[in-house]
Amino acid sequence: MKENLLGLDAGGLARFFEAQGEKPFRARQVQRWIHQLGEADFAAMSDLSKALREKLAQHACVAAPAIVGDETTPDGTRKWLVKVDGANAVESVFIPETGRATLCVSSQAGCVLDCSFCATGKQGFNRNLASAEIVGQLWLANRLLGVERRTDRVISNVVFMGMGEPLLNLDNVIPALRLMIDDNAYGLSRRRVTVSTSGVIPGMDRLRDECPVALAVSLHAPNDALRDQLVPVNRKYPLAALLAACNRYLEKAPRDFITFEYVMLEGVNDTEAHAREAAALAGAVRCKYNLIPFNPFNGVDYRRSSPERIRRFAEILQRAGLTVTTRKTRGDDIAAACGQLAGDVTDRTRRGRRLQLKEVRA
Ligand code: SAH
Ligand code: SF4
Repeated sequence: MKENLLGLDAGGLARFFEAQGEKPFRARQVQRWIHQLGEADFAAMSDLSKALREKLAQHACVAAPAIVGDETTPDGTRKWLVKVDGANAVESVFIPETGRATLCVSSQAGCVLDCSFCATGKQGFNRNLASAEIVGQLWLANRLLGVERRTDRVISNVVFMGMGEPLLNLDNVIPALRLMIDDNAYGLSRRRVTVSTSGVIPGMDRLRDECPVALAVSLHAPNDALRDQLVPVNRKYPLAALLAACNRYLEKAPRDFITFEYVMLEGVNDTEAHAREAAALAGAVRCKYNLIPFNPFNGVDYRRSSPERIRRFAEILQRAGLTVTTRKTRGDDIAAACGQLAGDVTDRTRRGRRLQLKEVRA
């Protein structure tokens, strides 16, 4: 079985080269070929000896998943359907904006956490993505966008807001993150790589210790009673414990605040009383709020809050001294907006089964 070098971080690649009896600097050379130049063919790695190129071709490969769908909206949002195996495809979304461009990546095929308003959650969980499949989304995006040299770095930000819960797949997410921030690979700033979690506390602590990057927490409700319904993992990791974990994270985080994501669901979590409760939580954690207008999809009854409601909610938070952004809804017409990413997952869990919280481990 050939080793897929695409998913190995600097340490993993150094160990592979050592096992082959090669010098560590060869690993660094190959890492630049793969990630900075997007090269998958060892034969083209012209500063390696012919013997080494042949040896690598025998024992290793650089294998990214296949792109099976590619759609662009008039605003430039581009969605790729990435086939990770015979049964599963996940989605990556490229979002260009003035002065920056963000790639939204997936970390799992499906998701076990079953948030009530999320299309990914509705399809059950199938499997964790390998680190080559996670960083492979960035590698593929760069290739498809025609980025040939590191200096043309088109993608400036990566967010783990596609399919899946990244903190339930840290064994694979951490090597992928390390490559994203490695100057010898993609060289993104830690502050510009954001992991989003529904609040898996052991995963937050591990990320803090092993690879702190910017953190977004999917709050969505300002009290346990409501959050238990919307984000069922709250029954295992309730708000008080979540806020304490946010503060532990902030000790090592590259930014001095946590982004609280808050999906705006009409009549469910968007009243003035909810806004005041949400503002009060900010007393416990340094945070900014990001309001996300709900993106509807087939089979759910929720509706998006009206722009007036969203404006009022934001105003109450701002009056309490908080920074609030409201997400522009982009890519709606290709279902590329948050939470609409359904991909194509063969659900091996029983659909509709209640979440078993003991299954949730970081
Ligand atoms: N599992 C992680 C990351 C993926 S979801 C998490 O839950 O944080 C990325 C963001 O999209 C989360 O804040 C999630 O709650 C939100 N989201 C899910 N479904 C949505 C929908 N239908 N409309 C708007 N946002 C949604
Ligand atoms: Fe999973 Fe995040 Fe969707 Fe919840 S919102 S089901 S944690 S992907």
